[in-house]
Amino acid sequence: MDNALQTIQNIIGWEGWTLAWYLVWFSVVVLWLSLVFWTLKDARKRIEDGLITAVAVATSLVFPFIGTLVYTILRPPEYLVDVRERELEMRAVEMELSAVRACPNCREPVREDYIACPKCRKALRHVCPACERPLECSWKICPYCTTDVIATPGASSVTEVSLR
Ligand SMILES: [Zn+2]
Ligand SMILES: [Zn+2]
Repeated sequence: MDNALQTIQNIIGWEGWTLAWYLVWFSVVVLWLSLVFWTLKDARKRIEDGLITAVAVATSLVFPFIGTLVYTILRPPEYLVDVRERELEMRAVEMELSAVRACPNCREPVREDYIACPKCRKALRHVCPACERPLECSWKICPYCTTDVIATPGASSVTEVSLR
């Protein structure tokens, strides 16, 4: 019994404890600072506003671990690069959609500058008699060469165009 007590006393009195304690604290501090640095790196990729980034970094610095955890919960889910890429993609799709129309007769996709549907031969546009460019049916003069063109009454969209 005395022997066991002696052993416990030896363990408690071990001088290495101080060193071990320092090591633990050192690791904790290193981990804390790495998390602050990680927050800075991550916030830069996700947040455009410099002030909000600074607040996020300050939070994880002032409130070790908890601040970083809160940032992880509240941070924007997407990277700025991804957001921009998606916006560009959406714009590209929109432009593509506006460039492509459907033939009113057969629903074949036709381009903005087509004069007639390539599939069913339906006329989609007028042609300027002077410069032969495609014109909207509602136009009164050719915007390319200012030649007067006779507008078809009431015909304002592709769906209302018919063969002359
Ligand atoms: Zn057609
Ligand atoms: Zn013209």
